[in-house]
Amino acid sequence: MTWQNWAGTATADPARRYWPQTAEAIADAVKDAASAGLAVRALGSGHSFTPAAATSGAALDLSGWTGVISADTSTGLVTVRSGTTIRALNAALDALGLAMPNLGDIDAQTIAGAISTGTHGTGARLGGIATTVAALELVLADGSMVSCSADQRPDLFAAARIGLGALGVISTVTLRCVPAFTLAADERPMRFEQVTARFGEFAADNDHFEFYWFPYGRNVLVKRNSVTSGGPRPAPRRMPGWRRYWEYEVLENAAFGALCRTGRAVPRLIKPLNRLAAATLSARSYTDTSHRVFVTPRRVRFVESEYAVPRESVLDVLAELRGAVPRLTDPVMFPVEVRVAAADDIWLSTAYDRDTAYVAIHQYVGLPYREYFRVFESIAAAVGGRPHWGKLHTLDAERLGALYPRFADFLGVRDETDPERRFANPYLEQVLGR
Ligand SMILES: Cc1cc2nc3c(=O)[nH]c(=O)nc-3n(C[C@H](O)[C@H](O)[C@H](O)COP(=O)(O)OP(=O)(O)OC[C@H]3O[C@@H](n4cnc5c(N)ncnc54)[C@H](O)[C@@H]3O)c2cc1C
Repeated sequence: MTWQNWAGTATADPARRYWPQTAEAIADAVKDAASAGLAVRALGSGHSFTPAAATSGAALDLSGWTGVISADTSTGLVTVRSGTTIRALNAALDALGLAMPNLGDIDAQTIAGAISTGTHGTGARLGGIATTVAALELVLADGSMVSCSADQRPDLFAAARIGLGALGVISTVTLRCVPAFTLAADERPMRFEQVTARFGEFAADNDHFEFYWFPYGRNVLVKRNSVTSGGPRPAPRRMPGWRRYWEYEVLENAAFGALCRTGRAVPRLIKPLNRLAAATLSARSYTDTSHRVFVTPRRVRFVESEYAVPRESVLDVLAELRGAVPRLTDPVMFPVEVRVAAADDIWLSTAYDRDTAYVAIHQYVGLPYREYFRVFESIAAAVGGRPHWGKLHTLDAERLGALYPRFADFLGVRDETDPERRFANPYLEQVLGR
């Protein structure tokens, strides 16, 4: 059966599929595939836009390898099976009175897929999801099972937290969770110039700051979420169910999807529709359980590229992009998303050793995007931008090597753990080399 990712940008026909339900079965699958001379890839939820998970060899479907193995509510350390989705993880953590300190926009990804490509949310003092990892268990190319953490095989740990599936199949992930918390959310339209002028202040004053910018309008939607003070778990002031449905399902999905379909059918309407979408943004304030604020439904399909740029360069990047978008041959239907993250120490993290801003560009599926993404890539390249491993880009190992100070160390760990390239696929050949 043909495998396809969420966005439809990658397909593959694996020669074999395995559906392991124990760690030993993962190891057996790796050994079995090796004896048949097949390359191995673990499948997450298929939410990478890049063909990171694609294989014509053996595909390991981990959807039967899910759930919490152990949890210590005093330390917050929670060990989960690698195929657990973030949605299921959030539900399990709710029941334990724990939470992930930061999350991205959606919860459909598996925990292993999310960390393997460096999935992140926003927060100037917070790292991406992989920075929450305290330990990993992996099945290596020879079928052996190993554990790693800051104390145990620290090089493997520094590499495998964002390992692109190149070093082994992650069987379990131990996460350092925090006590459950409530976020006060403030989402409101503002002028583009207002937000860029106060970018540093907004990033510093809010636990989670991001904004969406419709590239032809002057309005942006600013989202500022901060942990509520006043007791461990104040009762949430939730947005009423009907309003949540109206704002997130109707306006951000059904109505926006209708605008996108109209724009795709009649491209000359895209710019006015884009301005209309920006003009109809409304303000909302509420408090809710953290993951109900982080996560929003994304039912309108799109393609995406995202670059991590040094935080101090982000306003230049946005100014360049603002100048370039009106000159594109094909208009852009989707907003640009801007987020922030703290520097971290994970070798292939897009935020490695530098405070970062993320600029993500999108286009509605079925509309031309290559010129847009190419122009954006050259703007990001000028400031040393690093592409998200799970989002569209054209960089190869040579260019990526120059962007990551520990790239050669990563390749060294790869040579050690997978000398025969059991976990290779064309995407890894592109980004890591043979
Ligand atoms: C609608 C949408 C919203 C998104 N929002 C965000 C966001 O807010 N922030 C962000 O940073 N990204 C975001 N992304 C990107 C997404 O989080 C990443 O691409 C993520 O890797 C997808 O996880 P997955 O489970 O679907 O993994 P897949 O895409 O299926 O796989 C990703 C990689 O992980 C590997 N892998 C999977 N499981 C294992 C395992 N057990 N062991 C070893 N390797 C493994 C795969 O082989 C592959 O190389 C979004 C994507 C979409 C489509």
